[in-house]
Amino acid sequence: MLIQSDYHIHASFYRVKGTEADSRPTAAEQLEAARNAGTVYVGIVEHCNDSPKHPFYCLEELAEEYYAPAFPRENVFLGVEADLKDDGSDFCGREGRKKLGLHYVIGSVHNSPKSGNTVEEYIALEHKRITNALKYNTNINFIGHPFGEGHRWERSGDIEKWHWGLIPENYIEDILRSARESGKALEINRPRFDDPVYLDFLKRIRDDKIFFEVGSDAHRANEAHAAAADRTKKLEELGFQEEYHWRAVK
Ligand SMILES: [Zn+2]
Ligand SMILES: [Zn+2]
Repeated sequence: MLIQSDYHIHASFYRVKGTEADSRPTAAEQLEAARNAGTVYVGIVEHCNDSPKHPFYCLEELAEEYYAPAFPRENVFLGVEADLKDDGSDFCGREGRKKLGLHYVIGSVHNSPKSGNTVEEYIALEHKRITNALKYNTNINFIGHPFGEGHRWERSGDIEKWHWGLIPENYIEDILRSARESGKALEINRPRFDDPVYLDFLKRIRDDKIFFEVGSDAHRANEAHAAAADRTKKLEELGFQEEYHWRAVK
């Protein structure tokens, strides 16, 4: 049995808002939604990067909500989703982590065709950042949605179909090996259970005893939280063991 956890839930209230009326969720609202979806261990995050939408003070406000005396913190953790740089370092850093009182840092790659990159350039970029982060960055705990941005090139019409067969085999091998050697976890997020190459990747995580984390990436209280239950169930069917299910510690 896997215990349902979800450490990738966005408290999207804590970002610079557009001009349009917005009612994005606070940490408390996301916690309630996660509990309603049956999640036992809950991790609340927001982005940490150089986007004008995500200045550091927004993360400080999120930390304030989390550490307010009345906030129920049992089995609830505070993290950030930090963008990775080419050398594998992250936008939060040790200092940011300490300042915010974080329990964990997710290292993610965000890229889209708008950056001017081809899908091949994106794949190479993601491989480089993830591998370097796994090898050299001791500030991060797991990799968010590995190769989860590829679908954007399909959506923009740049490629006909995004699938994991587009990723060179040695890239996938590097990531699996670096994850295993570092003890850091890989996130199951934006999964493609019907993609045979992705399914092989999952089986390698399982068989090579690599830590894994299940994330919904829910940005709103009324959407995506059920993904944690669905993905956990799917992994259970595939024979994943709780022993290697990543857990945050305080
Ligand atoms: Zn992300
Ligand atoms: Zn996210």
